[in-house]
Amino acid sequence: MDKEIVVASNNQGKLKEIQDILSDYKVISMKDLGIEMEIEENGETFEENAFIKAKTIAKMTGKLCIADDSGLCMEAFNGFPGIRTARFLGENATQAEKNQYIVEKVQGLPRERRKAKFICTIALVISGKEEKAFRGELEGYITTDIKTEGGFGMDPIFELENGKTLSEIGTKAKDKISHRYKALVQLKEYLEKIM
Ligand code: IMP
Repeated sequence: MDKEIVVASNNQGKLKEIQDILSDYKVISMKDLGIEMEIEENGETFEENAFIKAKTIAKMTGKLCIADDSGLCMEAFNGFPGIRTARFLGENATQAEKNQYIVEKVQGLPRERRKAKFICTIALVISGKEEKAFRGELEGYITTDIKTEGGFGMDPIFELENGKTLSEIGTKAKDKISHRYKALVQLKEYLEKIM
């Protein structure tokens, strides 16, 4: 594995999925490079935020760099929480608190009204050479209670058409269908063309 790719993230869940999917690459995190910083995500779209992160780290390292910006959009609530999925309850809320809030929001709604999708945008930046974004989506429903564990983030409250949550199907199955997988496959094909 001599090909390296720097990921502008310290989210262990994302890093693991990215490494599993981009198995031909050595995935390097910000932590691996000793970079300790919070990059302010003040863009207005997933794409803008992904580019803010990827450009910052590509400039600092001079290496091929990618960033993932992702989130949950609920159809019945105008796409809420969208680009604010990580922070809609403030910077200090735990994942469990955020998941609880989302589940309470859909209480009493029939399944059709609990429709939601995960969106993932991956930005690729090679400073001075490349800037390209790839997007993937995964459709499903918000659960009415939290009965599963596993995966990361909102995996336990996101149910697929077959009634199983992302945490129930496990990472191996998730990595073949997820929003992140769909974006990374496009990135992989693109890198094969330009490298
Ligand atoms: P950000 O991309 O770091 O701004 O955070 C996105 C947030 O969306 C994460 O903290 C998770 O709560 C949620 N999220 C994004 N992708 C996934 C996923 O694959 N599974 C579960 N939650 C996700």
